[in-house]
Amino acid sequence: MQLQDQVAIVTGGSRGIGLATCRLLAEQGATVLAAARGAENLHAWLGDHPQLAGRLIPTTLDVTDAAAIDRLIEQTIEKYGRIDILVNNAGITRDGLLMSMSDEQFDEVLDTNLRAAFRLIRAASRHMIRARRGRIINIASISGVAGNAGQANYAAAKAGLIGLSKTVAKEFGKRGITCNVVAPGFIETDMTAGLPDKLKEQVKEYIPLQRFGKPEEIAAMVAFLAGPGASYVTGQVFLVDGGLHV
Ligand code: NAD
Repeated sequence: MQLQDQVAIVTGGSRGIGLATCRLLAEQGATVLAAARGAENLHAWLGDHPQLAGRLIPTTLDVTDAAAIDRLIEQTIEKYGRIDILVNNAGITRDGLLMSMSDEQFDEVLDTNLRAAFRLIRAASRHMIRARRGRIINIASISGVAGNAGQANYAAAKAGLIGLSKTVAKEFGKRGITCNVVAPGFIETDMTAGLPDKLKEQVKEYIPLQRFGKPEEIAAMVAFLAGPGASYVTGQVFLVDGGLHV
């Protein structure tokens, strides 16, 4: 179990990519705080996965609440004494063409997808620095790498996350902390479930692997970056997109 005795926090851990990541990290031996606004769904999920009870811990957190972030980090240290892995995964979309995008639509996405990651990194890294070890993994998007019509807010936030991550890699490398980005393409989750079928079929034509990815395929990259095999990897952006960006 390569993550035995490690403590991880994964935001947006209640479903989709976040839940798949919590599950894999817990299966690899970590104690995983699955942080989400509503933990009810996680309690139900754990009922069907009793082998992970005690290792996957449903934890209430709204990532736009600055005080709640500080509380979560303090409580984690009080209870477990360490934070080894932080996965900033919580994310939302509020799509629309730039000309008609409101300030609120822009701010909401920036707050959830970028500012929250900054705050979590700032709070968690204090403890990682003291321990002289830590793995930070931020979930961006191919939209943050290539831009995407209708997603000015989302692409800006995800591109910001990439710049933030490279900076964290440079500032904290000498403290034994790595920071990397996973940038998914189209993944089968609630986030893409609402796309029209016709659009989904068109997109698949452009993906060399000819299909959407599964949450587990993003979780696998996150687990690699959290594990011992990635000890010399930092400041990098890993596209997990079936080859779409090629
Ligand atoms: P999802 O909508 O299924 O899950 C998003 C998660 O974030 C949920 O658990 C939700 O509760 C949580 N969340 C949202 N706002 C929050 C808040 N204020 N506080 C706490 N939690 C909050 O979507 P997903 O596809 O699993 O997305 C996970 C990440 O992957 C996101 O950052 C998303 O931008 C990114 N991503 C997804 C895709 C895709 O195709 N699905 C592609 C690229 C990037």
